[in-house]
Amino acid sequence: MVSIRLPKLLIVLRFAFLRRQLALAGLLLILPLSTSVAQQPEAGVLNLYSARHYQTDEQLYSDFTRQTGIRINRIEAGDEALLERLRSEGARSPADVLLLVDAARLWRAQIDGIFQPVQSDLLARRIPAHLRGKDDGQGPLWFAYSTRARVIVLNPSRIDPQLVRNYEDLARPELKGKVCTRSANSAYMLSLIGALSEHWGLAQTETWARAVVSNFARPPRGGDTDQIKAVASGECAVALTNTYYLARLQRSGNPQDRALTDKIRLVWPNQESFGTHMNVTGGGMLKHAPNRAAALKFLEYLASDRAQEFLANGNNEWPVVASATRSNPVLQAWGNFKADSLPIATVGRAQIQAARITDRVGWR
Ligand code: FE
Repeated sequence: MVSIRLPKLLIVLRFAFLRRQLALAGLLLILPLSTSVAQQPEAGVLNLYSARHYQTDEQLYSDFTRQTGIRINRIEAGDEALLERLRSEGARSPADVLLLVDAARLWRAQIDGIFQPVQSDLLARRIPAHLRGKDDGQGPLWFAYSTRARVIVLNPSRIDPQLVRNYEDLARPELKGKVCTRSANSAYMLSLIGALSEHWGLAQTETWARAVVSNFARPPRGGDTDQIKAVASGECAVALTNTYYLARLQRSGNPQDRALTDKIRLVWPNQESFGTHMNVTGGGMLKHAPNRAAALKFLEYLASDRAQEFLANGNNEWPVVASATRSNPVLQAWGNFKADSLPIATVGRAQIQAARITDRVGWR
């Protein structure tokens, strides 16, 4: 899912690390009694580990450097690869900030203990409380910077749209053999099912999940785009997808992609109850960040109106800051909907109970 550009960036970071070690060795010769130099950051540098990989993110990073003079060394890789790397680097990690997609993954990073709390009046003012990570009174461990919804797509030639208005409806007997889904091991599914279990309780969620499994059109496979394609082709009547996959097809330069979206209907689930499930892109400052001042500047920059626009448009998502411009034509055309405001920190934590439920009902 993510392009790995490790080798080149690895060299850049290694070089930066070596330079810091060399600078440190030099300082120790001059100031043998000082131990504080060991924490001396490299001036004007931010080391960023990111699981995001979109074109407009380039603009985001260069805009930050232009505004602050702080250069960004970046490693882009999949979420798991980045977490594994941080685990193995431990206290020697050069990373200052980690950006991840999905609350389930942010929560996993959080329980790995890799983030440090960040106190920032600006972030407290600009990012809504339900979109901040765990806060034990010293500031949130991470912040959400853009949101995506997990919606239902249906094929009206295969199912009466009136039957499918809520997540609950995926369990209806009328949908037997008509539901396509990706694996429940996917962070997107764990977050959704975790959120549903917060609303419904564990027993009801398990009953629902068991019924959804009995409605499968095929064993779970593929990503969200594959689910959309399966609904468009009529292989199944309904599926779940994150909104940006749908927006990507609708905005595609390829007419075949756009034709797919003509065959399907988008449903905003649970508009009369708790609202449609939301997930996020988010990030935080790492516990061993060598460049803390630069990291704080960057985390605050991401909440600026300008950065919010880059972040949201880069992947057809919504900004989290109320004053940021919303200029995405597809998202504008979709209009307003009721979004679930369950705290995103709770969504992340709920993946544990979601995994137990999906295991028990055989949702592989
Ligand atoms: Fe995705």
